[in-house]
Amino acid sequence: MPLSEYEPARFRSPEYKEVWSEQAAEQACYITADAIENMKSIAVLGYPNEVCGLLLGHINQQGWHILSVRQIANLNTNRAADRFELDPKGYQAIDVEIRNSDVEIIGVFHSHPDCPAKPSPTDLDGAWEGFLYPIVSVCDGEVRDVRYWEPHDDTQQFHPVLVKEKNV
Ligand SMILES: [Zn+2]
Repeated sequence: MPLSEYEPARFRSPEYKEVWSEQAAEQACYITADAIENMKSIAVLGYPNEVCGLLLGHINQQGWHILSVRQIANLNTNRAADRFELDPKGYQAIDVEIRNSDVEIIGVFHSHPDCPAKPSPTDLDGAWEGFLYPIVSVCDGEVRDVRYWEPHDDTQQFHPVLVKEKNV
């Protein structure tokens, strides 16, 4: 199917287009090859449901350094691609687990089954400034796109984050 088949009309509505800017974020995102692969396979295994999880790593002046990703249960069983709800117990468990490690929680990823890797108004409502929000588009069970977004409180929009892979 052509890609447009996977872009429901709401993604082209003014309400959705307001949610993100084309202007790239100032900081970049550095992600290991393993972390990208894990994030993609979590999204594919969860298809056709929407899945979500945490990014572990650190943040410095250059941006987000993602070292690993961890799936968290999605409490929202509605499979609409514009909603997810992280299980707070899963979040807390990881928070406790990494307390004495050199990594921290630096963002939240989720999948968009049969939808583009663009954020929705609901994604913006639930986003925290300072966190990075990758979205994995999975169409017909295959990863089509992964995009990384940073929410800005001042513009009330997501900005795309450039990705630099690293092998550490
Ligand atoms: Zn979403």
